[in-house]
Amino acid sequence: MFPPMRDRESLHTPLKLQPMPINGEWQGKIAYLDRDGVIIRGFEDYVNTPDEVEVLDGAPKAIGDLRRQGFRICIVTNQSPVGRGIWSRDNLALIHDRLRSEISSVDSDAILDLTLHSPYAPWHNSWARKPNPGMLEAGRQIIEAAESGIELAESDIKYGEDWKNRPREASSVMVGDRNVDMEAAKSHGVRGFRCHPDKGLIDVISEILVSRK
Ligand SMILES: [Mg+2]
Repeated sequence: MFPPMRDRESLHTPLKLQPMPINGEWQGKIAYLDRDGVIIRGFEDYVNTPDEVEVLDGAPKAIGDLRRQGFRICIVTNQSPVGRGIWSRDNLALIHDRLRSEISSVDSDAILDLTLHSPYAPWHNSWARKPNPGMLEAGRQIIEAAESGIELAESDIKYGEDWKNRPREASSVMVGDRNVDMEAAKSHGVRGFRCHPDKGLIDVISEILVSRK
C-alpha cells in the first residue's frame, strides 16, 4: 500500500482542527481542493521552492467563504517530485508552510484543515495518487475522527472496497483544474468543479456556494 501522506506527521496522528467560523456543529461538508491551478499557480516543472508559491487572486477569500459556509478544507495534491527523487518531503512541508501563511494573512478564516499529498510517481500505481480517490477517502476519515474526538490507528483508515459503511458525501465538493481531479471526485462520490488553471478556485466558487447552501 502506498498511502497518502501529511506534511510532518503520520497519516493517523490526531488532527487538531481549528474552530469553524460559524455557529453550530459541523454538518459533514468537506471541500477537497487540488493545490496547483486551484489555490496557487501551477507550473509544468512543478512548484519547487517556497519562493515559487504564487497565490491565485481571490483564492484566500474563496477558502474563507467555504469555511464560513461550513466546509472543512482538505488539500489533495499529487506531488510526484518526491517519488521521482527530485526533492524531499521536508521541502514540500516548507512550501505548504508558505502557502498557509500567505492565505491566512489575507483572510483569517482561510485555514487548511488537513493537507494531504501523494508523493508517488505514476509507476507506483498508488491508490492515493489521483485519479484514484485514496487521498479523499483518507481525508474524510481523518477529519471525521478529529471532529468526533476519536483517535485512529493506522489500520483504521480504509480504502476502496475495504471501506464499508461510508458516510454520504453528497454535500461535499472537489475542485481541480484537471481531468484526474474530476475522476477522483467521481470515484469518491462528490460533485466535481473544474476551474481554469489561471483563475483557480475563484472561477467556480460562486457556483459552489449557490448550489451547496
Ligand atoms: Mg492542479
